[in-house]
Amino acid sequence: MKVSQLYAPTLREVPAEAEIISHQMLMRAGFIRKTAGGMYTYLPLAQRVMKKIENIVREEMDAKGAQEILMPITQPAELWQESGRWGAYGAEMWRLKDRHGREFCLGPTHEEVVTALVRDEVRSYRQLPLMLYQIQNKYRDERRPRFGLIRSREFVMKDCYSFDRDEAGLDVSYNAMYDAYSRVFDRCGLNYRPVEADSGAIGGSGSHEFMALAETGEAELVYCTKCDYAADVEKAELHVIKAEPEVALPKEEVSTPDCKTIEDVCKYLRLPVEKSVKAVAFHSEKGLILCFVRGDHEVNEIKVVNTAGVLEVAMAEEAELAAAGTAGGYMGPCGIDHKKAIVIVDSTVMEMHNFCCGANKAGYHFVNVNPGRDFTPTYVADIRLIQAGDPCPHCGAPVAHARGTEVGQVFKLFTKYSAPMGARFLDEEGKEKPIVMGCYGIGVGRTMQAVAEQYNDKDGMMWPRAVAPYEVIVLPMNTKDEKSTAKAFEIYDELLKAGIETVIDDRNERAGVKFKDADLIGYPLRVVCGPKGLEKNQLEIKIRRIGEVKMLSLEGDYIGEIKEILAKL
Ligand code: ATP
Ligand code: MG
Repeated sequence: MKVSQLYAPTLREVPAEAEIISHQMLMRAGFIRKTAGGMYTYLPLAQRVMKKIENIVREEMDAKGAQEILMPITQPAELWQESGRWGAYGAEMWRLKDRHGREFCLGPTHEEVVTALVRDEVRSYRQLPLMLYQIQNKYRDERRPRFGLIRSREFVMKDCYSFDRDEAGLDVSYNAMYDAYSRVFDRCGLNYRPVEADSGAIGGSGSHEFMALAETGEAELVYCTKCDYAADVEKAELHVIKAEPEVALPKEEVSTPDCKTIEDVCKYLRLPVEKSVKAVAFHSEKGLILCFVRGDHEVNEIKVVNTAGVLEVAMAEEAELAAAGTAGGYMGPCGIDHKKAIVIVDSTVMEMHNFCCGANKAGYHFVNVNPGRDFTPTYVADIRLIQAGDPCPHCGAPVAHARGTEVGQVFKLFTKYSAPMGARFLDEEGKEKPIVMGCYGIGVGRTMQAVAEQYNDKDGMMWPRAVAPYEVIVLPMNTKDEKSTAKAFEIYDELLKAGIETVIDDRNERAGVKFKDADLIGYPLRVVCGPKGLEKNQLEIKIRRIGEVKMLSLEGDYIGEIKEILAKL
């Protein structure tokens, strides 16, 4: 490809809405353009990267025996009514009607369509296991589309579905997909962590998210500094901390004027914070939920939602607290009427002795409170939010905190869709059973941008070769110099013949402009051919990612040398 003909319009001014570096770079370098909010056109350079990622995904899916299909984007409402999600999916779903008034949606995901497909065709255990996938546009009317391709409203996703006879079969499929995903993201060059995830709205239990590490990531995670453990903070389990045994002292009410926070109370009473318990109050559809954790711990809302079995929680109002016989800033687990509030106490609190907590009236706390003797919770559960430095639940080493962007997710669905939608098979004994399913997604555009987010410097992007739009750019230093320009074209032809994806910057521009554009677009290798080099029979090559410059002799096998260098990028 000649750069003079390449449709990659560069921008000097990046629109203010491009908040993160990868979005800015993809806009500046002429990879993508916004068509509407959360809808993008992929220009030729981006389209080449997308195709490379798709091909990596295809190879890894095929290697696990998954078969590629293509389902319609437009899906009938009836299927979603069968699974019960037509109402549940909410405003994220793009809904439309045909000329007869029948309802459809633009697929945000394809569990319903694929389950309906399989239920009509699969009858016997002999047809299982089965894995089907597709690569296609998905539609989600996101509340807050942002960060370019990271959270858009139309995006390319690879979605795969597995069908097995039983849970043991599902485990095999799930592990195969987990392995395929690791290979995909390794090949894309991403620094990522597979983390144990909350299964969320899609349902089922047993799920991992593949998180590309990024400061700008929306997800918060923790990973062990020693072993492989990593988890979404929402999901991370925590060990109960056992306190040394103590003789239970008599509970006492003490006045704590002007002590609003637990730190104030501990300071006033001269108690270590590990001897205190603090409260967080939530409002839910089941009423007030009072949660208690050790003074230096935080409450994990997701765990609260799961423990109480509610849909969602919001901060409780003072009036609600008063109605339950307590007061903001002075809440404690003692004497709360379980009919007026759900009391959830963190498992670690249940191991504490002689601690201090609110006395449920303004200006007072209790000291020497002991679980069992002084209060009984509605639920005892692990509701703590994991923090950096907490011990790893697998090996005990301290965990570290990171942010990430979810590029893929694997789910065990079990029979969540097959049971209500009647996707059944006959087992060896002729007994009818629901098919056991899994689903597996990768965001192709999000992966491309996650790579750009990890591979850039002040001058532009630095694509790993496997996903680079082109591998090499040949740069004639001075197009007015016929001899060296002719040589540059000769090298360009040789590289193409050797099967190397190459562009030549044939534009009649100053060398500085060409260098800048090449750096911005991020070709892995730059080959410069100019009059001075030619005099010495030399070619200058530069590896974009490490900035290393090398001279190659035009008398040697420079194409072979370039190939060798590329193999390592
Ligand atoms: P998120 O939590 O980020 O909204 P999700 O969990 O809803 O994503 P899945 O249903 O698991 O997403 O979809 C599979 C993959 O599709 C995700 O891992 C992600 O890579 C990609 N994806 C999901 N939503 C978007 C979006 N709005 N824009 C771009 N890619 C997306
Ligand atoms: Mg997900």
